Amino acid sequence: MARYREANCKLCRREGEKLFLKGARCMSDKCAIERRQYAPGQHGQNLRRKVSAYGLQLREKQKVRRTYGVLERQFRNYFKKADAKTGITGENLVQFLERRLDNMVYRLGFAPSRKAARQLIRHRHILVGGRIVDIPSFLLKPGQVVRVKDKSKNLDLIHSALKMGRGEELPWLRLNKAALEGELLEIPKRSDIPLTANEQLIVELYSK
Ligand code: SF4
Repeated sequence: MARYREANCKLCRREGEKLFLKGARCMSDKCAIERRQYAPGQHGQNLRRKVSAYGLQLREKQKVRRTYGVLERQFRNYFKKADAKTGITGENLVQFLERRLDNMVYRLGFAPSRKAARQLIRHRHILVGGRIVDIPSFLLKPGQVVRVKDKSKNLDLIHSALKMGRGEELPWLRLNKAALEGELLEIPKRSDIPLTANEQLIVELYSK
């Protein structure tokens, strides 16, 4: 399966904000964006560059796509599904991304980053509704319970992630830290999703 293998910090520097792709390092003063607040590459420090409307739309799309760690083709598929669904397309798009299993494992605090969450899932440490699911893009439905497999409950990665204070208090999630399980209570409302993005720009980009 295709995946992104380049340096993660470059992605944050390109988008000009923290995307929290590396777990504990993102909270430390080693974070690249704290030290070099300009885009990577030869022209990264060229502050006079004008950004076109298309450029703004593209950057917003890249930021959201990179935050959730989704490749272009899959992201476009989410957009198509969001567009076909009733409701606001941008909101539908963010809801699809939030319902991904890797995102849920990250939000529940069982992994320090979405990338680490994907690895936990691929290595078969995560159960959904009592069955192992090893597909990071698996879309959860309200009422489904995500749990760490009993044999995997002592994994250092999970406990160091929980120590980082991850495991967010979000209205659409129920988290039981002691049992290492959580439930998707409902499809999240856009206003409750902690994502600073203007998804309308993505809708405009893909609607051209
Ligand atoms: Fe982004 Fe984390 Fe790297 Fe900072 S440390 S630039 S937040 S990936």
